[in-house]
Amino acid sequence: MISSRSAGACRGCEECVRIGCSRAGARPDVGDNGRVTLYRDEGVVLRTQKLGEADRIVTVLTRRTGRIRAAAKGVRKTKSRFGARLEPFTHVDLQLYERRSLDLITQAETLRPYGQRLVVDYPRYTAGTAMLETAEKLTAGEREPALRQFLLLVGGLRTLADGSHDPRLVLDAFLLRSLSVAGWAPALDECSRCGDRGQLRGFSIAGGGAMCSRCRQPGTATPAPPTFALMLALLRGEWDYADDSEQRHRVECSGLVAAYLQWHLEHGIRSLRHVERDGGTRERRGAAGATAGDAAGDAVGGRLAAPGAAAGAGDLDFDGYEPDDPAGPGGASDRETV
Ligand SMILES: [Zn+2]
Repeated sequence: MISSRSAGACRGCEECVRIGCSRAGARPDVGDNGRVTLYRDEGVVLRTQKLGEADRIVTVLTRRTGRIRAAAKGVRKTKSRFGARLEPFTHVDLQLYERRSLDLITQAETLRPYGQRLVVDYPRYTAGTAMLETAEKLTAGEREPALRQFLLLVGGLRTLADGSHDPRLVLDAFLLRSLSVAGWAPALDECSRCGDRGQLRGFSIAGGGAMCSRCRQPGTATPAPPTFALMLALLRGEWDYADDSEQRHRVECSGLVAAYLQWHLEHGIRSLRHVERDGGTRERRGAAGATAGDAAGDAVGGRLAAPGAAAGAGDLDFDGYEPDDPAGPGGASDRETV
């Protein structure tokens, strides 16, 4: 039900009849300029906050609208039809009323309930939580479309939920690609200072990534060469290589990726603290997924690549969308704004 307080934004349309708005049956405002007040979008729930007695504010990264915060009425009541659909990790199809303050969610249908498989597995849950928080922090403004970040998040959560790779590897791949989409891809196969591709010895967080032996400054981290290769494989989606990597290189990779991300976000990702850095004795099922992002490496080798220059479109998911995936490219084309 829409409260009387919020009815000012509505015009007594058909939707009012369906959802029981107090203005149901009222005539549309005279002189209506046709402004769309109801819209649909799909998105991943990033976070929820309590609002009043029974409501929540839900933060969602949507496919078309970007990151939004919207009110969901009555979702904390046990009878709520929305409740479980608006929990973090859930990929939902939403219908919303546009309002002056918070938009109002009037419908929510679950597309993929990723949370169900993540909450029962602590390493996957903490990795997923870090993904949600990173996705929120890297989408700076509300209502700024962030399609690539959205696709990365959906692909990352799906890969995490299907359990085919070490969750820490999935998280690091997500973080590296998210940094790349944001224009902060670290240099990994050339020196970030002189561009030399040989003899990479150091990794400078502030300097933008790998450094050659000539440019390396004292105090710079000196990862093992296979660690550079692992980071590059994760950025490119080369899971065969990543799944066969040694534990010590994974730990080193995770430390560098976390430090690099935190440096760019000014230590903004709190949930990274809960991610297990050494929990990598999980089974590895090998090459379940295709390497979707082979073309990416050429474009993202340089530091501070421009946003959008990072990779071709095929790189933005993890294992490629299935053709019938409702979240896939083009799959949502029939969901026009109402
Ligand atoms: Zn150099």
